Amino acid sequence: MLLDQNPFSRRQFLGACALGAGMVASRGMGAFADPFLKILMPRDRVPLSFIIDDSTCLVNMGHYAYPQFATAWPDRAEYKKDWTKWPREIPDVFVREFGEWCGENGVKGKYSIVPNPACVGWLDRELPGWSHRQLEESLKLVRELMVPNWDIHPEMITHTRVIDLKTGRPFGDINAGTMENSYPQEDKSVDELANYLAYALRILKNCELPCEGITTPGGFGNRVKTKLPQAVFEAVRDVYGTDLPHFFKYVSDGDESAEPTLERWKHDSTD
Ligand SMILES: [Zn+2]
Repeated sequence: MLLDQNPFSRRQFLGACALGAGMVASRGMGAFADPFLKILMPRDRVPLSFIIDDSTCLVNMGHYAYPQFATAWPDRAEYKKDWTKWPREIPDVFVREFGEWCGENGVKGKYSIVPNPACVGWLDRELPGWSHRQLEESLKLVRELMVPNWDIHPEMITHTRVIDLKTGRPFGDINAGTMENSYPQEDKSVDELANYLAYALRILKNCELPCEGITTPGGFGNRVKTKLPQAVFEAVRDVYGTDLPHFFKYVSDGDESAEPTLERWKHDSTD
Protein backbone atom coordinates (compact mmCIF):
# COMPACT_ATOMS: atom_id res chain seq x y z
CA MET A 1 0.00 0.00 0.00
CA LEU A 2 1.34 3.42 -0.92
CA LEU A 3 0.20 7.00 -0.91
CA ASP A 4 -0.99 8.37 -4.20
CA GLN A 5 -0.73 12.16 -4.61
CA ASN A 6 -0.34 12.98 -0.94
CA PRO A 7 1.78 15.22 1.26
CA PHE A 8 4.01 12.36 2.47
CA SER A 9 6.81 10.85 0.48
CA ARG A 10 6.51 7.25 -0.57
CA ARG A 11 9.41 6.34 1.72
CA GLN A 12 7.88 8.05 4.77
CA PHE A 13 4.66 6.24 4.19
CA LEU A 14 6.35 2.89 3.74
CA GLY A 15 7.98 3.41 7.13
CA ALA A 16 4.58 4.07 8.70
CA CYS A 17 3.16 1.03 6.97
CA ALA A 18 5.52 -1.25 8.79
CA LEU A 19 3.35 -0.49 11.81
CA GLY A 20 0.10 -0.44 9.88
CA ALA A 21 0.51 -3.75 8.09
CA GLY A 22 -0.90 -5.77 10.96
CA MET A 23 -3.98 -3.63 11.00
CA VAL A 24 -4.57 -4.16 7.30
CA ALA A 25 -4.23 -7.88 7.76
CA SER A 26 -6.70 -7.97 10.60
CA ARG A 27 -9.19 -5.36 9.47
CA GLY A 28 -9.04 -5.83 5.72
CA MET A 29 -8.94 -3.22 3.00
CA GLY A 30 -11.94 -1.42 4.44
CA ALA A 31 -9.62 -0.04 7.11
CA PHE A 32 -8.30 2.37 4.47
CA ALA A 33 -11.31 4.27 3.27
CA ASP A 34 -9.13 7.40 3.07
CA PRO A 35 -9.19 8.58 -0.56
CA PHE A 36 -5.46 9.37 -0.35
CA LEU A 37 -4.67 5.73 0.21
CA LYS A 38 -4.82 2.78 -2.07
CA ILE A 39 -3.78 -0.83 -1.66
CA LEU A 40 -1.01 -2.02 -3.93
CA MET A 41 0.40 -5.46 -4.51
CA PRO A 42 3.54 -6.59 -2.64
CA ARG A 43 6.56 -4.64 -3.95
CA ASP A 44 4.08 -2.81 -6.19
CA ARG A 45 4.24 -5.62 -8.69
CA VAL A 46 1.54 -7.92 -10.01
CA PRO A 47 2.13 -11.39 -8.59
CA LEU A 48 2.00 -14.17 -11.17
CA SER A 49 1.67 -17.86 -10.53
CA PHE A 50 2.10 -20.56 -13.13
CA ILE A 51 -0.86 -22.96 -12.83
CA ILE A 52 -0.06 -26.28 -14.48
CA ASP A 53 -2.90 -28.74 -15.03
CA ASP A 54 -2.92 -32.34 -16.25
CA SER A 55 0.62 -33.10 -15.14
CA THR A 56 1.61 -36.29 -13.34
CA CYS A 57 4.60 -38.62 -13.30
CA LEU A 58 5.79 -39.95 -16.67
CA VAL A 59 2.34 -40.55 -18.20
CA ASN A 60 1.40 -38.19 -21.01
CA MET A 61 -2.22 -37.64 -20.04
CA GLY A 62 -3.21 -36.60 -23.58
CA HIS A 63 -2.13 -39.89 -25.12
CA TYR A 64 -4.01 -42.02 -22.60
CA ALA A 65 -7.00 -39.80 -21.82
CA TYR A 66 -8.17 -38.89 -25.31
CA PRO A 67 -9.38 -42.35 -26.33
CA GLN A 68 -11.36 -42.45 -23.08
CA PHE A 69 -12.81 -38.99 -23.70
CA ALA A 70 -13.67 -39.99 -27.29
CA THR A 71 -15.58 -43.05 -26.03
CA ALA A 72 -17.54 -41.08 -23.44
CA TRP A 73 -18.31 -38.18 -25.79
CA PRO A 74 -18.33 -39.68 -29.31
CA ASP A 75 -19.88 -36.56 -30.87
CA ARG A 76 -17.29 -34.07 -29.68
CA ALA A 77 -14.92 -33.02 -32.44
CA GLU A 78 -12.16 -32.01 -30.03
CA TYR A 79 -11.69 -35.64 -28.99
CA LYS A 80 -11.31 -36.95 -32.52
CA LYS A 81 -7.64 -36.00 -32.65
CA ASP A 82 -5.11 -38.68 -33.54
CA TRP A 83 -3.83 -39.40 -30.06
CA THR A 84 -1.94 -42.48 -31.36
CA LYS A 85 0.78 -40.18 -32.72
CA TRP A 86 1.28 -38.36 -29.40
CA PRO A 87 4.12 -39.58 -27.19
CA ARG A 88 3.06 -41.80 -24.32
CA GLU A 89 5.57 -40.25 -21.92
CA ILE A 90 6.44 -36.84 -20.49
CA PRO A 91 10.11 -37.61 -19.81
CA ASP A 92 11.67 -36.71 -16.50
CA VAL A 93 14.58 -35.02 -18.30
CA PHE A 94 12.02 -32.51 -19.55
CA VAL A 95 10.50 -32.03 -16.08
CA ARG A 96 14.00 -31.55 -14.67
CA GLU A 97 14.98 -28.96 -17.27
CA PHE A 98 11.68 -27.11 -16.81
CA GLY A 99 11.82 -27.26 -13.01
CA GLU A 100 15.42 -26.08 -12.87
CA TRP A 101 14.71 -23.19 -15.23
CA CYS A 102 11.74 -22.17 -13.09
CA GLY A 103 13.84 -22.46 -9.94
CA GLU A 104 16.57 -20.22 -11.40
CA ASN A 105 14.04 -17.64 -12.57
CA GLY A 106 11.78 -17.50 -9.51
CA VAL A 107 8.80 -19.09 -11.24
CA LYS A 108 6.39 -20.73 -8.79
CA GLY A 109 2.85 -22.03 -8.90
CA LYS A 110 0.68 -25.12 -8.84
CA TYR A 111 1.67 -28.45 -10.34
CA SER A 112 -0.95 -31.20 -10.66
CA ILE A 113 -0.04 -34.80 -9.95
CA VAL A 114 -2.90 -37.02 -11.12
CA PRO A 115 -2.64 -40.02 -8.74
CA ASN A 116 -4.06 -42.73 -11.06
CA PRO A 117 -3.34 -41.00 -14.37
CA ALA A 118 -5.93 -41.97 -16.99
CA CYS A 119 -6.27 -45.31 -15.14
CA VAL A 120 -2.77 -46.31 -16.33
CA GLY A 121 -1.44 -47.13 -12.86
CA TRP A 122 -1.27 -46.02 -9.23
CA LEU A 123 1.57 -43.69 -8.36
CA ASP A 124 1.85 -45.23 -4.88
CA ARG A 125 2.02 -48.75 -6.35
CA GLU A 126 2.93 -49.43 -9.97
CA LEU A 127 2.85 -47.63 -13.29
CA PRO A 128 2.51 -50.27 -16.05
CA GLY A 129 4.84 -49.37 -18.92
CA TRP A 130 7.55 -48.06 -16.62
CA SER A 131 9.76 -49.88 -14.12
CA HIS A 132 9.19 -49.43 -10.42
CA ARG A 133 12.53 -47.68 -10.22
CA GLN A 134 11.51 -45.20 -12.92
CA LEU A 135 8.34 -44.45 -10.96
CA GLU A 136 10.31 -43.97 -7.73
CA GLU A 137 12.79 -41.66 -9.44
CA SER A 138 10.02 -39.64 -11.03
CA LEU A 139 8.32 -39.13 -7.66
CA LYS A 140 11.66 -38.20 -6.11
CA LEU A 141 12.15 -35.58 -8.80
CA VAL A 142 8.79 -34.02 -7.95
CA ARG A 143 9.52 -34.13 -4.22
CA GLU A 144 12.99 -32.61 -4.50
CA LEU A 145 12.73 -30.23 -7.46
CA MET A 146 9.09 -29.19 -7.69
CA VAL A 147 7.71 -29.27 -4.13
CA PRO A 148 9.87 -26.37 -2.83
CA ASN A 149 8.38 -23.94 -5.38
CA TRP A 150 5.10 -25.54 -6.41
CA ASP A 151 1.86 -26.48 -4.67
CA ILE A 152 1.08 -30.07 -5.51
CA HIS A 153 -2.59 -30.87 -6.22
CA PRO A 154 -4.35 -34.05 -7.19
CA GLU A 155 -6.55 -33.41 -10.21
CA MET A 156 -8.92 -36.00 -8.81
CA ILE A 157 -8.14 -39.66 -9.05
CA THR A 158 -7.81 -40.42 -12.79
CA HIS A 159 -8.88 -37.25 -14.67
CA THR A 160 -10.75 -39.73 -16.87
CA ARG A 161 -13.01 -42.47 -15.47
CA VAL A 162 -14.78 -42.13 -12.11
CA ILE A 163 -13.50 -44.72 -9.65
CA ASP A 164 -15.99 -46.74 -7.60
CA LEU A 165 -14.52 -46.25 -4.14
CA LYS A 166 -16.02 -49.56 -2.98
CA THR A 167 -14.11 -51.60 -5.55
CA GLY A 168 -11.24 -49.32 -6.57
CA ARG A 169 -12.24 -49.91 -10.23
CA PRO A 170 -13.82 -47.59 -12.80
CA PHE A 171 -17.61 -47.89 -13.05
CA GLY A 172 -18.74 -50.22 -15.83
CA ASP A 173 -20.71 -47.75 -17.92
CA ILE A 174 -18.80 -45.21 -19.96
CA ASN A 175 -20.68 -41.94 -20.25
CA ALA A 176 -20.63 -38.37 -18.98
CA GLY A 177 -21.80 -39.57 -15.56
CA THR A 178 -18.79 -41.84 -15.11
CA MET A 179 -16.15 -39.38 -16.29
CA GLU A 180 -14.50 -37.16 -13.68
CA ASN A 181 -14.67 -34.14 -16.04
CA SER A 182 -18.46 -34.10 -15.70
CA TYR A 183 -18.93 -35.79 -12.33
CA PRO A 184 -21.33 -35.88 -10.60
CA GLN A 185 -24.39 -35.79 -12.84
CA GLU A 186 -26.71 -36.01 -9.86
CA ASP A 187 -26.69 -34.49 -6.40
CA LYS A 188 -24.05 -35.76 -3.98
CA SER A 189 -23.63 -35.09 -0.28
CA VAL A 190 -20.63 -33.24 1.11
CA ASP A 191 -19.47 -36.52 2.64
CA GLU A 192 -19.64 -38.37 -0.68
CA LEU A 193 -17.65 -35.65 -2.41
CA ALA A 194 -15.15 -35.42 0.44
CA ASN A 195 -14.60 -39.19 0.33
CA TYR A 196 -13.80 -39.01 -3.36
CA LEU A 197 -11.33 -36.16 -2.90
CA ALA A 198 -9.73 -37.81 0.13
CA TYR A 199 -9.17 -41.01 -1.88
CA ALA A 200 -7.07 -39.02 -4.36
CA LEU A 201 -5.24 -37.12 -1.63
CA ARG A 202 -4.32 -40.30 0.25
CA ILE A 203 -2.52 -41.68 -2.79
CA LEU A 204 -0.37 -38.57 -2.98
CA LYS A 205 0.23 -38.74 0.75
CA ASN A 206 1.44 -42.32 0.29
CA CYS A 207 3.85 -40.88 -2.29
CA GLU A 208 5.13 -38.46 0.39
CA LEU A 209 3.89 -35.46 -1.54
CA PRO A 210 2.44 -32.56 0.48
CA CYS A 211 -0.92 -31.09 -0.59
CA GLU A 212 -2.89 -28.14 0.66
CA GLY A 213 -5.52 -28.19 -2.04
CA ILE A 214 -6.98 -29.80 -5.12
CA THR A 215 -7.67 -28.90 -8.74
CA THR A 216 -10.97 -29.95 -10.30
CA PRO A 217 -10.56 -31.81 -13.60
CA GLY A 218 -12.68 -30.15 -16.29
CA GLY A 219 -16.20 -29.58 -15.02
CA PHE A 220 -15.86 -31.77 -11.94
CA GLY A 221 -18.29 -30.56 -9.29
CA ASN A 222 -20.22 -28.15 -11.54
CA ARG A 223 -23.55 -29.49 -10.26
CA VAL A 224 -22.51 -29.35 -6.60
CA LYS A 225 -20.70 -26.00 -6.46
CA THR A 226 -22.22 -25.08 -3.11
CA LYS A 227 -21.02 -28.34 -1.52
CA LEU A 228 -17.60 -28.54 -3.08
CA PRO A 229 -15.89 -25.95 -0.82
CA GLN A 230 -16.92 -27.81 2.34
CA ALA A 231 -15.93 -31.15 0.79
CA VAL A 232 -12.48 -29.78 -0.10
CA PHE A 233 -12.11 -28.34 3.38
CA GLU A 234 -12.98 -31.65 5.04
CA ALA A 235 -10.95 -33.87 2.71
CA VAL A 236 -7.72 -31.86 2.77
CA ARG A 237 -7.99 -31.32 6.52
CA ASP A 238 -8.72 -34.98 7.10
CA VAL A 239 -5.78 -36.28 5.07
CA TYR A 240 -3.18 -33.55 5.59
CA GLY A 241 -4.40 -31.50 8.57
CA THR A 242 -4.12 -28.29 6.53
CA ASP A 243 -5.44 -25.16 8.28
CA LEU A 244 -6.77 -23.41 5.20
CA PRO A 245 -7.28 -25.77 2.24
CA HIS A 246 -7.78 -24.26 -1.20
CA PHE A 247 -8.97 -25.40 -4.61
CA PHE A 248 -8.64 -24.29 -8.21
CA LYS A 249 -11.78 -24.46 -10.28
CA TYR A 250 -12.85 -21.11 -11.69
CA VAL A 251 -11.20 -19.04 -14.42
CA SER A 252 -11.26 -15.25 -14.26
CA ASP A 253 -11.32 -13.45 -17.59
CA GLY A 254 -10.46 -9.94 -18.70
CA ASP A 255 -10.77 -7.36 -15.93
CA GLU A 256 -12.27 -9.79 -13.41
CA SER A 257 -10.45 -9.94 -10.12
CA ALA A 258 -8.23 -12.98 -9.63
CA GLU A 259 -8.12 -12.54 -5.86
CA PRO A 260 -8.78 -15.75 -3.93
CA THR A 261 -12.35 -16.00 -2.67
CA LEU A 262 -13.60 -17.67 0.49
CA GLU A 263 -15.91 -20.14 -1.24
CA ARG A 264 -16.78 -22.06 1.89
CA TRP A 265 -18.06 -18.99 3.72
CA LYS A 266 -19.89 -17.86 0.62
CA HIS A 267 -22.08 -20.95 0.74
CA ASP A 268 -22.38 -21.40 4.50
CA SER A 269 -25.77 -19.74 4.70
CA THR A 270 -27.35 -21.80 1.91
CA ASP A 271 -26.10 -25.30 2.70
ZN1 LIG B 1 -7.15 -30.97 -16.27
